[in-house]
Amino acid sequence: MKAAVLHQYDTKLSSPEYVTLEDVPEPKIQNPTDVIVRIGGAGVCRTDLHIVEGIWREKVDVKLPYVMGHENAGWIEDVGKGVTEYKRGDPVICHPLITNCLALASRRGHDMHAEGSEFPGISTNGGYAELLRTGVGSLIKLPQTLAPKDVAPHADAGLTAYHVGKKAARDLSPGERVAVIGVGGLGHIGIQVLAALCSADIIAVDRSEAALALAKECGARHLVKADEHQVEAVLELTDGKGAEAVIDFVGEGNSIDNGLAMTRNNGAYYIVGYGGEIRISAIDMITTERRIIGNLVGTYSELVELMELANRGRVNLATQYYKLSDANTALHDLHHGKVRVRAVLMP
Ligand code: ZN
Repeated sequence: MKAAVLHQYDTKLSSPEYVTLEDVPEPKIQNPTDVIVRIGGAGVCRTDLHIVEGIWREKVDVKLPYVMGHENAGWIEDVGKGVTEYKRGDPVICHPLITNCLALASRRGHDMHAEGSEFPGISTNGGYAELLRTGVGSLIKLPQTLAPKDVAPHADAGLTAYHVGKKAARDLSPGERVAVIGVGGLGHIGIQVLAALCSADIIAVDRSEAALALAKECGARHLVKADEHQVEAVLELTDGKGAEAVIDFVGEGNSIDNGLAMTRNNGAYYIVGYGGEIRISAIDMITTERRIIGNLVGTYSELVELMELANRGRVNLATQYYKLSDANTALHDLHHGKVRVRAVLMP
């Protein structure tokens, strides 16, 4: 089968070709609960650029060459002996982890922290290919209304935005404010999730006018241009005190300092984007009682909930499609800011 293979890291992302399109052996069923999915769409994610940069090298045990792609949806191609619930041709989206469903963390609903899990596209071969091996426990059957290529990025980008949006919504009352920093591939989903799950006023913060226009369509009430005066602008919208919740989808540059400065006392700063560093003195933490909350993808049941919202038209994905053979173009477009929303590779 054809796959876009990562052969070497490129810490500066300066090479014209990050991955190589080549013929590789098809994945095989290894365990009775394995399934092979024929990829309909594989989302291209900033995490893939971070993988190319080598940022994940020390975090996961993976040997090059391998195939990236952790946002996968498609159709069942083959199933292991222990799989009775799916048949060839069923449309599915794949939770990004092959979870060890027997792990205590899984049973408690903390899928991302279950021991013994594999992460196709990060720790094993992923979906920048025609076929993907995953586990039956990762699959969610898609309704006929949702095509795999249209929902693939929900497997990680959408799920992450849903996970953080649901956490924030639980603590937000009508009349309170939530600031969303960065209205890109995740941010535009996060705003729709917040609009669906709570009645807090959403303040969207972004450098780009086009992104702010998208934020408005998605349900933001206030639009703030990130022009170095965004902290003042958010304070002005929140009685000088800051928002009860701030969700930072950027997480690098001055976004973290600005995000913390927008968070009111006793409020919560949710960090999703990464690359930067959070620095805060202990005295600032105790006097303001702000909470800083990390967010890692989401659970299987949250992906089920997100598919419900997608099926009802409450959360829509803005996508940009590329052929699998154009994986390098998609990655470069993402790196150079030419992908405003979510890029999807189609074999
Ligand atoms: Zn991703």
